[in-house]
Amino acid sequence: MNLNVNEIFYSLQGEGGRTGQASIFIRLAKCNLACSFCDTNFERGVKMGLEELLGEIADWPCRWIVWTGGEPTLQLTDEVVAFFKERGYLQAIETNGTRPLPAGIDYITCSPKQQFGKVRELIPAVDELRFPMQAGDPLPDISVLPRTDRYLLSPIFEGQQLIPENVDYCISLIKQHPEWALSLQTHKLIGIR
Ligand code: SF4
Repeated sequence: MNLNVNEIFYSLQGEGGRTGQASIFIRLAKCNLACSFCDTNFERGVKMGLEELLGEIADWPCRWIVWTGGEPTLQLTDEVVAFFKERGYLQAIETNGTRPLPAGIDYITCSPKQQFGKVRELIPAVDELRFPMQAGDPLPDISVLPRTDRYLLSPIFEGQQLIPENVDYCISLIKQHPEWALSLQTHKLIGIR
Protein backbone atom coordinates (compact mmCIF):
# COMPACT_ATOMS: atom_id res chain seq x y z
CA MET A 1 0.00 0.00 0.00
CA ASN A 2 1.43 3.39 -1.03
CA LEU A 3 0.65 6.93 0.05
CA ASN A 4 1.31 10.02 -2.05
CA VAL A 5 3.30 12.09 0.46
CA ASN A 6 3.99 15.80 -0.01
CA GLU A 7 6.26 16.25 3.02
CA ILE A 8 7.16 14.90 6.43
CA PHE A 9 8.50 17.09 9.20
CA TYR A 10 8.89 17.09 12.96
CA SER A 11 7.78 20.16 14.88
CA LEU A 12 5.33 21.39 17.50
CA GLN A 13 1.63 21.61 16.79
CA GLY A 14 1.16 25.34 16.36
CA GLU A 15 -2.60 25.75 16.66
CA GLY A 16 -5.75 24.35 18.23
CA GLY A 17 -6.20 22.21 21.29
CA ARG A 18 -2.85 20.39 20.93
CA THR A 19 -0.81 23.61 20.62
CA GLY A 20 2.74 23.17 21.81
CA GLN A 21 2.84 19.38 21.62
CA ALA A 22 5.58 17.69 19.63
CA SER A 23 4.13 16.17 16.48
CA ILE A 24 5.26 14.41 13.35
CA PHE A 25 3.44 16.03 10.45
CA ILE A 26 2.76 13.88 7.42
CA ARG A 27 1.29 15.99 4.66
CA LEU A 28 -0.52 13.93 2.05
CA ALA A 29 -0.71 15.34 -1.46
CA LYS A 30 -3.87 16.67 -3.15
CA CYS A 31 -7.07 18.31 -1.95
CA ASN A 32 -10.66 18.09 -3.16
CA LEU A 33 -11.25 21.83 -2.52
CA ALA A 34 -9.53 24.98 -3.75
CA CYS A 35 -9.95 27.63 -1.04
CA SER A 36 -8.89 31.16 -1.93
CA PHE A 37 -6.99 31.63 1.35
CA CYS A 38 -5.17 28.29 1.22
CA ASP A 39 -1.56 28.73 2.35
CA THR A 40 -0.41 25.17 1.71
CA ASN A 41 1.53 23.74 -1.20
CA PHE A 42 0.15 20.22 -1.34
CA GLU A 43 0.10 19.32 -5.04
CA ARG A 44 3.36 17.45 -5.39
CA GLY A 45 3.95 14.11 -3.76
CA VAL A 46 6.13 11.03 -3.81
CA LYS A 47 4.78 7.52 -3.44
CA MET A 48 5.85 5.88 -0.20
CA GLY A 49 5.05 2.48 1.23
CA LEU A 50 4.03 2.22 4.90
CA GLU A 51 7.29 0.55 5.99
CA GLU A 52 9.25 3.25 4.17
CA LEU A 53 7.18 5.96 5.88
CA LEU A 54 7.72 4.29 9.24
CA GLY A 55 11.45 4.25 8.56
CA GLU A 56 11.38 8.02 7.92
CA ILE A 57 9.77 8.84 11.27
CA ALA A 58 10.99 6.10 13.58
CA ASP A 59 14.07 7.98 14.85
CA TRP A 60 12.00 10.84 16.23
CA PRO A 61 11.03 10.20 19.87
CA CYS A 62 7.53 11.58 19.37
CA ARG A 63 4.57 9.21 19.10
CA TRP A 64 2.00 11.67 17.74
CA ILE A 65 1.41 11.73 14.00
CA VAL A 66 -0.63 14.56 12.49
CA TRP A 67 -2.12 13.58 9.15
CA THR A 68 -2.61 16.77 7.22
CA GLY A 69 -2.84 17.98 3.64
CA GLY A 70 -4.31 18.86 1.28
CA GLU A 71 -7.14 16.62 2.40
CA PRO A 72 -5.73 13.52 4.09
CA THR A 73 -8.97 11.52 3.88
CA LEU A 74 -8.45 11.26 0.11
CA GLN A 75 -5.80 8.64 0.91
CA LEU A 76 -5.98 7.62 4.54
CA THR A 77 -7.66 4.25 5.15
CA ASP A 78 -8.51 2.14 8.19
CA GLU A 79 -5.54 -0.07 7.30
CA VAL A 80 -3.05 2.81 7.29
CA VAL A 81 -4.25 4.09 10.66
CA ALA A 82 -4.17 0.55 12.10
CA PHE A 83 -0.61 0.04 10.82
CA PHE A 84 0.71 3.01 12.80
CA LYS A 85 -1.52 2.34 15.82
CA GLU A 86 -0.09 -1.19 16.09
CA ARG A 87 3.35 0.42 16.23
CA GLY A 88 2.44 2.67 19.15
CA TYR A 89 1.51 5.91 17.41
CA LEU A 90 -1.35 8.20 18.34
CA GLN A 91 -2.83 9.88 15.29
CA ALA A 92 -4.46 13.24 14.73
CA ILE A 93 -6.08 14.38 11.51
CA GLU A 94 -6.77 17.80 10.03
CA THR A 95 -9.71 17.50 7.67
CA ASN A 96 -12.05 19.81 5.77
CA GLY A 97 -14.98 17.54 6.71
CA THR A 98 -16.10 16.66 3.18
CA ARG A 99 -15.33 12.96 3.44
CA PRO A 100 -15.75 10.16 5.99
CA LEU A 101 -12.85 9.54 8.34
CA PRO A 102 -10.90 6.31 8.70
CA ALA A 103 -11.41 4.39 11.95
CA GLY A 104 -8.99 4.72 14.83
CA ILE A 105 -8.10 8.43 14.73
CA ASP A 106 -7.25 9.76 18.21
CA TYR A 107 -7.77 13.51 17.67
CA ILE A 108 -9.95 15.08 15.00
CA THR A 109 -9.56 18.68 13.89
CA CYS A 110 -12.22 19.68 11.41
CA SER A 111 -12.05 22.95 9.47
CA PRO A 112 -15.17 22.99 7.32
CA LYS A 113 -14.93 25.23 4.27
CA GLN A 114 -18.33 24.71 2.67
CA GLN A 115 -21.72 22.97 3.05
CA PHE A 116 -21.46 22.96 6.85
CA GLY A 117 -24.74 21.02 7.25
CA LYS A 118 -23.33 18.02 5.40
CA VAL A 119 -20.23 17.84 7.60
CA ARG A 120 -22.24 16.68 10.62
CA GLU A 121 -23.80 13.85 8.58
CA LEU A 122 -20.34 12.56 7.74
CA ILE A 123 -18.60 13.31 11.05
CA PRO A 124 -21.03 13.67 13.98
CA ALA A 125 -18.43 14.61 16.62
CA VAL A 126 -14.88 15.99 16.57
CA ASP A 127 -12.24 17.10 19.08
CA GLU A 128 -12.13 20.61 17.68
CA LEU A 129 -13.75 22.73 15.02
CA ARG A 130 -11.36 25.34 13.73
CA PHE A 131 -12.49 28.08 11.37
CA PRO A 132 -10.03 30.32 9.52
CA MET A 133 -11.59 33.80 9.70
CA GLN A 134 -10.94 37.15 8.13
CA ALA A 135 -12.59 40.40 9.07
CA GLY A 136 -16.23 40.41 7.99
CA ASP A 137 -16.68 36.64 7.72
CA PRO A 138 -19.94 35.40 9.25
CA LEU A 139 -19.80 33.34 12.45
CA PRO A 140 -20.66 29.70 11.61
CA ASP A 141 -23.93 28.30 12.96
CA ILE A 142 -22.98 25.83 15.69
CA SER A 143 -26.35 24.07 15.52
CA VAL A 144 -25.58 22.45 12.15
CA LEU A 145 -21.95 21.56 12.84
CA PRO A 146 -20.40 18.42 14.35
CA ARG A 147 -20.49 18.31 18.15
CA THR A 148 -17.31 19.34 19.92
CA ASP A 149 -15.95 20.83 23.15
CA ARG A 150 -13.73 23.26 21.22
CA TYR A 151 -15.11 25.84 18.81
CA LEU A 152 -12.11 27.80 17.56
CA LEU A 153 -11.73 30.89 15.40
CA SER A 154 -8.36 31.17 13.67
CA PRO A 155 -7.51 34.63 12.27
CA ILE A 156 -6.15 34.25 8.74
CA PHE A 157 -2.52 35.33 8.34
CA GLU A 158 -0.92 36.73 5.20
CA GLY A 159 1.94 34.34 4.71
CA GLN A 160 3.73 34.37 8.07
CA GLN A 161 2.33 37.80 8.89
CA LEU A 162 -0.34 38.28 11.53
CA ILE A 163 -3.15 40.57 10.34
CA PRO A 164 -4.29 42.60 13.38
CA GLU A 165 -7.63 43.42 11.72
CA ASN A 166 -8.46 39.70 11.50
CA VAL A 167 -7.37 39.08 15.11
CA ASP A 168 -9.42 42.02 16.39
CA TYR A 169 -12.42 40.79 14.45
CA CYS A 170 -12.17 37.29 15.97
CA ILE A 171 -11.75 38.72 19.48
CA SER A 172 -14.81 40.86 19.03
CA LEU A 173 -16.88 37.87 17.82
CA ILE A 174 -15.70 35.70 20.71
CA LYS A 175 -16.61 38.35 23.27
CA GLN A 176 -20.13 38.39 21.83
CA HIS A 177 -20.30 34.57 21.46
CA PRO A 178 -18.21 33.11 24.28
CA GLU A 179 -18.81 29.51 23.22
CA TRP A 180 -16.04 30.23 20.70
CA ALA A 181 -12.33 30.66 21.53
CA LEU A 182 -9.29 32.06 19.76
CA SER A 183 -6.73 29.82 18.05
CA LEU A 184 -3.63 31.59 16.80
CA GLN A 185 -1.18 30.03 14.36
CA THR A 186 1.62 30.26 16.90
CA HIS A 187 4.08 28.38 14.66
CA LYS A 188 3.98 31.40 12.34
CA LEU A 189 4.45 33.82 15.20
CA ILE A 190 7.56 32.05 16.49
CA GLY A 191 8.95 31.09 13.08
CA ILE A 192 8.81 27.30 13.20
CA ARG A 193 7.21 24.90 10.74
S1 SF4 B 1 -9.47 22.46 2.24
FE1 SF4 B 1 -7.59 23.14 3.28
S2 SF4 B 1 -5.89 22.27 2.09
FE2 SF4 B 1 -7.74 22.15 0.81
S3 SF4 B 1 -7.68 24.02 -0.45
FE3 SF4 B 1 -8.94 24.47 1.36
S4 SF4 B 1 -7.51 25.37 2.87
FE4 SF4 B 1 -6.25 24.35 1.27
